[in-house]
Amino acid sequence: MTLSTKIEVPEGHSLHHVVCPHDCPDTCSMLVTRDDRSGRAVRVQGDPTHPITRGYLCNKVNHYLDLVYNENRVLYPHKRIGPKGPGARFERISWDEALDCVTENFHRIIDEYGTEAIQPFSYSGTMGMINYWGMDQRFWNKMGAARLEQSICVHAATWARMHTYGESNGPDIAIASEDAELIILWGINPVTTSVHTMPFIREAKDRGCKIVAIDPRQTRTTWVADWHLQPKPGTDGALALGMMKVIVDHNLHDINFLKKHTRGWEELIETKLPDYPLDKVAKITGLSEGDIEKLALEYGATRKSNIRAGFGLNRHQNSGQMCRAIQILPCITGALRERCGGADFGRVGEAFAPFAVEGFQRTDLGDRDTKRIINMVQLGRALADDIGWNGEELEPPIKCLFVYNADPANCVPNSTNARKGLLRDDLFTVVHDTFWSDTCDYGDIVLPADTQLERTDIHTAYGFYHYAMNRPVIEPLGESVSNSELFRRMALKMDYVATSDDAFTQTDEEIIRDVLMKGDTPLLEDITYEDLLKNGWATGKFDSPRRNYLETGWPTADGKIQIWSEALAAEGQDPLPTYVPETNGQEDPKRAEYPLQVLSSASHYFIGHSFQPVERLQAMQSRPTFEISPEDASARSISDGDMCRLFNECGETFGYAVIIEGMLPGVLGTQKQIRGSRTPGGVNVNALNDETLTDFGMAPTFYSCLAEVERIDEDFGKPIERKS
Ligand code: SF4
Repeated sequence: MTLSTKIEVPEGHSLHHVVCPHDCPDTCSMLVTRDDRSGRAVRVQGDPTHPITRGYLCNKVNHYLDLVYNENRVLYPHKRIGPKGPGARFERISWDEALDCVTENFHRIIDEYGTEAIQPFSYSGTMGMINYWGMDQRFWNKMGAARLEQSICVHAATWARMHTYGESNGPDIAIASEDAELIILWGINPVTTSVHTMPFIREAKDRGCKIVAIDPRQTRTTWVADWHLQPKPGTDGALALGMMKVIVDHNLHDINFLKKHTRGWEELIETKLPDYPLDKVAKITGLSEGDIEKLALEYGATRKSNIRAGFGLNRHQNSGQMCRAIQILPCITGALRERCGGADFGRVGEAFAPFAVEGFQRTDLGDRDTKRIINMVQLGRALADDIGWNGEELEPPIKCLFVYNADPANCVPNSTNARKGLLRDDLFTVVHDTFWSDTCDYGDIVLPADTQLERTDIHTAYGFYHYAMNRPVIEPLGESVSNSELFRRMALKMDYVATSDDAFTQTDEEIIRDVLMKGDTPLLEDITYEDLLKNGWATGKFDSPRRNYLETGWPTADGKIQIWSEALAAEGQDPLPTYVPETNGQEDPKRAEYPLQVLSSASHYFIGHSFQPVERLQAMQSRPTFEISPEDASARSISDGDMCRLFNECGETFGYAVIIEGMLPGVLGTQKQIRGSRTPGGVNVNALNDETLTDFGMAPTFYSCLAEVERIDEDFGKPIERKS
């Protein structure tokens, strides 16, 4: 690649474009300096030419080289030589031995139980399209393995979006901030989770745009807002509907927009909104009637408005309808007439579609679409109890779990049950990971995965309209390989290559060229492989006339925005946006025993389990904290810094109290990503979640979690570390 920026590079060094691979909306463009004599990467920095990255990276990825050269990396294939579980022991083996063992077990299981007994488990350990869901899917499609509903993050908002707007999204925050007069940051903390959003917020604010934050918690972001509203968790759908009622009652709705571009607006106004008078919404949300009315009137009177919503809103039992109600707000005011107008959870809905998923995954290689599906958030019941997502018994049971890009021992709800299942003696488990994760302890075979500096891939940002290509900068460390290369090797061992045209012999570059050439999407108009190779990134065509939905109609069945959704009606859901109290939430009688609603959001220092081995970040967040209000702390005689036990009928975990003035009483904030092996109980907060799914979207309900907290006197145990 050639670089269009002038960055000083010492003699004997070279500069390379790399894409940040982590599950983050920003998809930064990074510049990596390599010492060409040693072949070692010596510096990472943000690309100053990239319009979103703007020359800086976040507090996590600034330490990317600590991750690449971390002593906790898995560098060679290993096989387990003792019992499964925490503290398991492994010995190094060759790649040939490892793949022989894996493929022999595949054959054994397929012969005895069929291909559906083999369960892949993966998520977004990398967001590169080839290594996230490309070559692996070709392999599983060819085999006919069981499918995985990859629902753990943003499925509820995605379903809500698709059922309302089809495969389309509005402006990102960079576009919206150009002329929006009101921006609502709804349930989002971008200082921690999408830091490149913040300069756009700051610039909009400097221009006079009002910034409102809606979040039950006080966060690094809510401090930046002009106004912070704290509804009770899980009540945001009622707030959105209450706002609509005020807007309509004051005749601030855009009747012409509703008539021309939406379906079901009359039913919404006549039959649904009367259910949401101010006094009722105030009671549900805990906000004052005055604040709700003021918010609604300001939003209703400001057509140049934008709502940027956060993924936490996905994690309640009533999230499908909640995300739908919020996304319908700009239809009511006609904000969608404006270039800046919209209500989006990033580019959820459209981000991955332009990449011609078929081209990456090759579903034509087999009949996998007929195979059973396991919902990843119900892995525990599938492994430990042989129960599928519909409650049916799994026949055959899962006999092989193949894990990559994920750490299911920590990341799924009811993680204690998942770990119990992972301990089964008759389960053959393979883990392909960059580091010794907690899940590795349950692996029969552990395989070494590379990092982003060692592979080729293509990325689509899900928070902004950008695309980027990644090329390797250094040689793979040890014997590590990309997911793509792993599945190529396995295809060879399984004899899939000879019967699969070029599906397993295409190089990563060839796949990218192919998909870019064949994809027909307005966002990728004029973007070529050569552009990406030269600059590292390219901007999607947000303003393509093919995306002017006011003219073309929205990509729905009748071209209209579906305020009334026939598809939801067919699923037995309310076809109009509605508010139903979540189970395990504000109005659950269980609150008498478990009065705190637990919001386990992103740590400021980790992304998933990806940065856990970095000592500098560990030092900043070596243990979980429990953020509670002074009222809740005082009622339990808890002081700042006390070690506490957080528990409910599902499980328990441990952390340190942080008392926050302004924290909503009845709410406890903690971090979702702490490794279980770093806590005395061995499990993180996900041990407290059950496997209930959202109303629609089949997503997890991490935030519909009631618990109690108490002070204890024990201290943390020593973390388990392993080196390869
Ligand atoms: S994690 Fe996000 S903010 Fe940090 S470098 Fe990666 S893309 Fe940028």
